[in-house]
Amino acid sequence: MSLLGLVLPSRCAGCAMPGPSLCQACRELLIRIAPPVCARCGCPGAWPVLRCVECSGRRLGFARARAAVVYDAHARAIVSAWKERGRRDLAPDLATVVAEVVARPAVDVVSCVPGDAERTRARSHVPAERLGRALAEGWDLPFAGILERVGTAPRQVRLPRAERRANVRGSFVAAARPPPTVVLVDDVYTTGATAAACATVLRRAGARSVEVVCLARAVR
Ligand SMILES: [Zn+2]
Ligand SMILES: [Zn+2]
Repeated sequence: MSLLGLVLPSRCAGCAMPGPSLCQACRELLIRIAPPVCARCGCPGAWPVLRCVECSGRRLGFARARAAVVYDAHARAIVSAWKERGRRDLAPDLATVVAEVVARPAVDVVSCVPGDAERTRARSHVPAERLGRALAEGWDLPFAGILERVGTAPRQVRLPRAERRANVRGSFVAAARPPPTVVLVDDVYTTGATAAACATVLRRAGARSVEVVCLARAVR
């Protein structure tokens, strides 16, 4: 725990109320993603489909992706507190939310999308890794850091979608041989490009099947 954490009273990351890192009301305001969803990418829709308009025709690398909550303004505020403002105390609470929605995957290991070296130093924590470790503990599965980032990709936020895909391609390497089945944890699923790139690297390194689990998902 940091010195600030010892001195300042804990506040909710959603509404700043003194108390737990995520109060009951803010937890309930997170919109859970419920079926029917696209079997492949987890996009919610009117009926269950094998591939949806968002993911059909794309090579995704992962067998399926699931996310717990809709990445709306409320979720964005909490994720931003968690990622950009160093609220590392949120990871266990957010892992609980994920585990409420996403069934424990039948895999050999839990891993995560690696943090950007430069931004990791600036923030001194990797949110996806913390979430992955907390989920692994709750699911009683081992956690292993397998992937590493090569170079520093330019920040994703301002890039159009096609460029994002090109941007993440080739930015990950496997630092260890993965077991046959892996669940890859990330904070937010936006286009799926990062998850797909990581899954492809894991499979080239020897994984037979990769599933993706995220806290939040952009829903258009
Ligand atoms: Zn709150
Ligand atoms: Zn889909």
